Amino acid sequence: MQLNDRLEEKFRLDANQKKALNKLKIFSVADLLFHFPVRYSDISEVKKITELIPGDMATIYGKISKLKTKKSFRTKIPMGEGEIEDLSGKIKITWFNQAYLAKMIKNGENVKLTGKVTKGKNGIYLANPEFEKMPDMPIDSHDTLFKKNNISNIGFSYPIYTETRGITSMWFYHAIEKILKEKTLDNIEDYIPDDILKKYHLPTLKTALIWIHKPKNKKDAESARKRFAFEEVFCIQLERQHDKFEYRKNKSFQIKPNEKEAQYFLERFPFSLTNSQKKSVETILADMAKNFPMSRLLEGDVGSGKTAVAATAAYATVNQRPQDKNGKLQNFGNLQVAYMAPTEILATQHFESFIEYFGGNATTWTPRVQVGLITGSGCRKFPSKVNPGSWTTISRAQLLKWVANGEIPILIGTHALIQKTVKFKNLALVVIDEQHRFGTAQRRKLIRKDGVAPHLLSMTATPIPRTLALTIYGDLDLSLLLEMPAGRKQIITEIITPNKREETYEQIRKELEAGRQLYVICPRIFEPDPEKELALNVKSAVAEAKRLKKEVFQEYEIEVLHSKMSKEKKEKVMQDFSEGKINILCATSVVEVGVNVPNATIIIIEGAERFGLAQLHQLRGRVIRSTHQAYCYIFAEAKSEKTVERLKALKTAKNGFELAELDLTLRGAGELGGTKQWGITDLGMEAIKNIKMVEAARTEAIRLIEEDPELLKYPLLKQKVHQKSGEFHFE
Ligand code: ADP
Ligand code: MG
Repeated sequence: MQLNDRLEEKFRLDANQKKALNKLKIFSVADLLFHFPVRYSDISEVKKITELIPGDMATIYGKISKLKTKKSFRTKIPMGEGEIEDLSGKIKITWFNQAYLAKMIKNGENVKLTGKVTKGKNGIYLANPEFEKMPDMPIDSHDTLFKKNNISNIGFSYPIYTETRGITSMWFYHAIEKILKEKTLDNIEDYIPDDILKKYHLPTLKTALIWIHKPKNKKDAESARKRFAFEEVFCIQLERQHDKFEYRKNKSFQIKPNEKEAQYFLERFPFSLTNSQKKSVETILADMAKNFPMSRLLEGDVGSGKTAVAATAAYATVNQRPQDKNGKLQNFGNLQVAYMAPTEILATQHFESFIEYFGGNATTWTPRVQVGLITGSGCRKFPSKVNPGSWTTISRAQLLKWVANGEIPILIGTHALIQKTVKFKNLALVVIDEQHRFGTAQRRKLIRKDGVAPHLLSMTATPIPRTLALTIYGDLDLSLLLEMPAGRKQIITEIITPNKREETYEQIRKELEAGRQLYVICPRIFEPDPEKELALNVKSAVAEAKRLKKEVFQEYEIEVLHSKMSKEKKEKVMQDFSEGKINILCATSVVEVGVNVPNATIIIIEGAERFGLAQLHQLRGRVIRSTHQAYCYIFAEAKSEKTVERLKALKTAKNGFELAELDLTLRGAGELGGTKQWGITDLGMEAIKNIKMVEAARTEAIRLIEEDPELLKYPLLKQKVHQKSGEFHFE
C-alpha cells in the first residue's frame, strides 16, 4: 500500500463509512495514518460489578438499561437514572443534576462508565459516572484481538479515535493494522531533521506513527504524542519565524525621537505612566529607531493603558520628517500613522482620545496634529476649518486625498484602513488594536513598492499563557503591561454559592437604589432546547431577564443583549443602557458590549464554573472603568470546594496572565481553546503545557530559519510546514 493510495481503493467501504471518512476529511492512506487517537483506554483498570466497594472510583463495562429522567423528590433537581449489567452482575447508576446524560445513551447500548461507588438507602450505586460508548467492546464481543493482548499482561491499551456516525474506533484499529502489515511505512521519510530528533529524544516518523496507533505501553504512546506535539509547534514556529524574517528584510523609516519633545508629550497626559508603560514605550522607541520594521505585540489587561503607549509611539512618528532615498532627513512633510480598531465604536473612541492627545493647546508646546477617521459609515477630520476646536465630517474622497499627499498624519479606522484604496504617502507605523493575528497576507499589503514597510504594533487584552503567546505570536516580540495604573479602585470580587444568592441580590439592590447599573452575564442566549437538554443548568440571558423582572428586581428596567439581535436593536439597547434608561442588562458572554458605561458598576457572571479564569477576568473587565467602586459577583452553581477554590484565584491574582497560567495548570490546555481559537490541534495544545518543549521548538526554528531561511536543505520539512499552514509562502 502506498501513502497516496485512496482509501476506497484499498478498503471495502460501505456508504456510511465513506460518508464518515469524508466528514473527517480522511481520503488517503496518509490521511488515515495522521488521524491520531484522541486517547487510549486502559482495559486493565476495569472492575467486575460484583467486586465494587463503596467509596472507590471505579470503571466498569456493561450494557445499559432502564434509563429515565426525573426530578429529585425534595430538591427538585433534575436527575438521570439507569442500570448497568456486566457478566458478573448489575448496579444502579444515578446522575444528579445532569439528567441530560441519561438522554445521550440508549437502553441496550454498551458503555464504559467511570464513577464513584456510593452506598445509598437501597444498596450501592454508581454516582455521576462519565461514560464512553463502546459499540464493539470486548466483554460481549467475540473479538479476540483485545483479549489476546490482555493476557500477555503488558498493561493493555487500545486507541480511541474521534468517531462519527458510521465509523468506530475498532474500524480504525483494523484499518491501521492492515496498513502497517503491508509495510506501507518502510520507506517513509522523516521531515524533521535527524539532529533535532536526537537532541530531544524524539522517535522517528515511522516509529512514532506505529507507537501512536499501536502503543505497546504508555511510555511509547507518550513518546509518539510528544513527537507530534513538538512537530506541530515546530512547524508553527518555522512559519512565524519565516514571516518575521521576511518582514524584517524590508526597510523602514528610522524614527529617532527628540527626548525633550517626547517629555513634553508625556506631560500632556493627566497622569504619569506606570513602570510597565514606561518600559514598553522605551522598547518600542528603540525598535522604531532601527532601519528594519518593528513587529511587536503589546499585551495588557483591559484598562492597563495600552492607548497611551500607542499614542506616544504615534507622537514620535508624526513628529519626524521622512528620510529621502539616501537616508537623509527631508525638510518637509512628516511620517504617518495608521491606527486600526476592531469596531466602529472603538475607532470613534480612539479618534476622540487622539484629539485630546494631539489637539494641542495654548499652554503647552505641542503643536496640533491633524487626525482623520475612516469607517464604514463615514469619515471625519480634526480640526475643522470652521471650528478649530472640533472635528468635521468630510467626504471619503477628500480624506483619502489628504492621506495620500501626507497632509493628514494620523488616520484612525476599522480594517477599511488597509484596503487598497487607502494610500499613504509616508506610512511609518501601523497600530493594530485587538486583532488576534495580523497575518502574512495582510502585512504584505503594507509593504511599499520601494521595499519600505511600516513598523507594526499589535495590542491585545486577551490574557494567554506565555507558552501559547510564544507559539502563536512567534513572529512578534512581546511587551507586557503587568500593572494597572495607580489609584484605580480594585473590583471587589465575590464568589457566590447558591445558598448566598438571595443575600447577594439584596446587596446589589442597594447599589441600584443609589443609581448604579448592573450587567448580568449568562452563558446562553435562549432556554436550552428541551430535546437536547445538554445545558440544563445553564442560565439563558433571555430567561434570566424574565426571571429577574418577575422575581427579584421588579422595580427596575431590564433588557437583553445578545448576538442574534439585529445591529440596530443592539445599538439601541446599548444606547439606552448608557443613557441610564435601562438599569439591568442581561447579556451573553460572547456579545461584545462595546461601549464603556462608567455608571455600570456591578457585574454578575452566571454559571461561572463553565468559564476559564482568564475568561472570567476578561468579562469582569467590563466594570473596570467605572468611576465608583465596582463589584463583580461570580455565581457558581456547584458547591464543590474545588470549584470555589479555583474561582478564588480571581480575588488574589494580580493580572490576567497569572490567571491564564493557572487555567493551564489547573484545567489543562483544553481550557484555552484549540483549533477554533488559535489554530492549534488538541495534540499540539499538549505541547503548550510544556515550556521546555515550546522553547525547544522555538530555538530550533529560529536557528533553522537563520541558517536557511527558505529551508532549501529541508524540502520535506518545507512541504510539511506549507501543508500545515494555509498562509505560508516561501519564495
Ligand atoms: P486599554 O489597555 O484597555 O486599552 P486604555 O488605554 O483605554 O486601556 O486606558 C484606560 C484608562 O486608563 C484611560 O482612561 C486612560 O486615560 C487611563 N490611563 C492610562 N494610563 C494611565 C496611567 N498611567 N495612570 C492613570 N490612568 C491611566
Ligand atoms: Mg484599548
